[in-house]
Amino acid sequence: MLGRMQNRPLLISMLIEHAAQCHPAAEIVSRTSEGPIHHCTYADISRRSKQLANALTALGVANGDRIASLAWNGYRHMEMYFGVSGIGAVLHTINPRLFPEQIEYIANHAEDSFLFFDLGFLPLVESLAPQLKTIKGIVLMTDQAHMPANSKIPNLICYEDLLAAQSGEYEWPQFDENTASSLCYTSGTTGNPKGVLYSHRSTLLHSMLACTTDGLGLGTNETVMLIVPMFHANAWGMIYAGAMCGAKLVMPGAALDGASVYALMKDEGVTLALGVPTVWLMLFGHVDTNNLVPKNDLVLRRVLIGGSSAPRAMSERFETDFGAFVMHAWGMTEMSPLGTVCNLLPKHRDYNLSQRLDIQAKQGRAVFGVDMRICDDEGVVLPNDGKAFGHLMVRGPWIVDSYYRDDGGQVLDAEGYFDTGDVATIDPDGYMQITDRSKDVIKSGGEWISSIDLENAAVAHPSVQEAAVIGVAHSKWQERPLMIVVKKANQELDKTEILQFLEDKIVKWWMPDDVVFADALPHTATGKLLKTKLREQFKDYKFPTDV
Ligand code: ADP
Repeated sequence: MLGRMQNRPLLISMLIEHAAQCHPAAEIVSRTSEGPIHHCTYADISRRSKQLANALTALGVANGDRIASLAWNGYRHMEMYFGVSGIGAVLHTINPRLFPEQIEYIANHAEDSFLFFDLGFLPLVESLAPQLKTIKGIVLMTDQAHMPANSKIPNLICYEDLLAAQSGEYEWPQFDENTASSLCYTSGTTGNPKGVLYSHRSTLLHSMLACTTDGLGLGTNETVMLIVPMFHANAWGMIYAGAMCGAKLVMPGAALDGASVYALMKDEGVTLALGVPTVWLMLFGHVDTNNLVPKNDLVLRRVLIGGSSAPRAMSERFETDFGAFVMHAWGMTEMSPLGTVCNLLPKHRDYNLSQRLDIQAKQGRAVFGVDMRICDDEGVVLPNDGKAFGHLMVRGPWIVDSYYRDDGGQVLDAEGYFDTGDVATIDPDGYMQITDRSKDVIKSGGEWISSIDLENAAVAHPSVQEAAVIGVAHSKWQERPLMIVVKKANQELDKTEILQFLEDKIVKWWMPDDVVFADALPHTATGKLLKTKLREQFKDYKFPTDV
């Protein structure tokens, strides 16, 4: 027997329609590529998304066509989120930090038919354009005044002209909620990037979760700063979730440096900010250099940190200097991206700060919709005892089923679980803690050492800017940890001091066999440590302990 409830499809256009109806005056603030800070509302975004929908239709864009964006966080990019997906086309957000050859690869692989880009990417697009085989038109996301006098791109279209020619009236079409809505490629630390193709349904369910109290607790009263880029797993779903609850959104454009982020936070009264650890280090650097007192300047209440592990020292600093609670979260492009959020339980209410920070160092508990478990190499499920660590497996309605164009083949196990490539523990309360990427874990004498734990312990040292740990071959132990440290500017630090500092923080047999210093560490396009490169760099390294 079927239920007798309305079967309205869950479509992305519902989000902007709702925002326009119920939160028309809620603000969207953007730092633009042209310079000034731009203010508009959900009502404006709704009207302009409809103009864009009309424009795309006039350009002949059909259902399922891929429309690429190369753009920072801003209102025009937001209009694409609704205008492109709303008509049944697919928004392909490209990460501009990828190598040009990778951008060329994914634009051709996705068979994008139009490319929209921000002013700052003009030279990049000029050099890429001849290689983009399926592109029918290129749109510069600016007004007539900022169009280049003579660009190498033939028939370059001006975004504002494109919109101005169209009406703001448009009836969003109804179609199957399983229709593809957006496409995002993983950053491909090994091999070519693979496409994750989201659907309207997965996006809507993910947004609902983000708005729940034990999800991200987003709401009308929040002013949310999206420092996580809109080309990185759809800015962790915040554009959609923001429209769902009418939160004010603040978008920093290309200016992710500490000074710009701090000023925008202050001017716009940001209460919740989202980003990867690297951006927070830049913010702390700005506060230090200028002797600022964030608690006096800002009204920040919460910070969402994900993408890589949030060190305990970072959560502590936000708590003490900013008066802000760090919500540690974990996920991946393949998961839309939310998997776990580290919220506290009633039993933690009386914890002191130090005890609380121990909890916040974990990646958190699975949100509703995500089934999560850990398995050994043979696929045997391991206990949630907080000690056993194994391959982290997930399934749920906003988790990848297979990659775009079937790259990578079958990626789910017999029970429908996706292997995240992470290694983790899960404690009896359900708190998951990432101990490593399966390819980065250090295998010493048959036991596993977590490179992430060692890195987190090292960055708590006041003179350490960044640290990476990799496994290097050892004749007796198979592999032993090598720590590579970048010192903060003008700081003295040597190997003995680091090792002494680690002594009470890690078990003895995890102690790195050597520490070397470097000026900088290699990173991926999404700001993560690029360990493949480090392993390559240190492949001939020999430990002084290995004789
Ligand atoms: P990429 O495209 O670089 O893989 P993702 O954002 O999809 O970018 O990366 C997902 C991976 O990032 C996860 O599988 C995990 O290894 C890592 N990650 C994400 N959040 C955290 C976190 N809070 N702590 C540790 N690692 C994390």
